Amino acid sequence: MANNQFFDVHTHSKESTLKKAAVYNFYKDFHLVKNYPYCSVGLHPWYIDTNWETTWNIIESAANQLNVIAIGETGLDKIVTTPLQQQLKVFALHVQLANQLQKPLIIHCVRAFNEVVQQLTILQNKVPVIFHGFNKSVALAQNLVQQGFYISFGKAITKYAVGELSILPLSNIFVETDDAAISIEKMYDLAAYRFNIDLNVFSLHIQQNATTVFGKNIDWL
Ligand SMILES: [Zn+2]
Repeated sequence: MANNQFFDVHTHSKESTLKKAAVYNFYKDFHLVKNYPYCSVGLHPWYIDTNWETTWNIIESAANQLNVIAIGETGLDKIVTTPLQQQLKVFALHVQLANQLQKPLIIHCVRAFNEVVQQLTILQNKVPVIFHGFNKSVALAQNLVQQGFYISFGKAITKYAVGELSILPLSNIFVETDDAAISIEKMYDLAAYRFNIDLNVFSLHIQQNATTVFGKNIDWL
């Protein structure tokens, strides 16, 4: 990442994506995918409607493009009204597509961590999995990391005390801006404090993780 010290694994900010190392997330407007250096595509559990199969076909073909470096966000959400069975079906399609294309998964998960992990096991998932916008207990984070999953922290990281996250291995961590009005630089700052580590060292770890998960053929690595 010679020119970019900061990497944003999940953002909805067009502006920051175009000038920085960031994965722009598409859940609609898939025809614009070609205009972004790096992005992810997926059918978010909130937007599964009666027309979802048409949307899925578009996602499937968009996912083949080289600048689409991840599949998602996808996952399970127990607050949304979409029936869980329906969500499971759509989630399974994403997991299969990600494995077929060998691209990592970006997961949206609300009160369904057990179900998501269970599905990934049943579907014999082999690609890296990133739980984005993590804001649950450190114990749950530890549990997920021990199973080899990655965790991405957004603005909600301020709920943790300074140093509280230092028991988590930096080998499985990412940082994101998501849809928050915050810069990725500020997010790194907030995160480094919570991991009780020097900002530059923290940054090197994230860079290493990005290389591991997204491959070496991307020019910001
Ligand atoms: Zn998002």
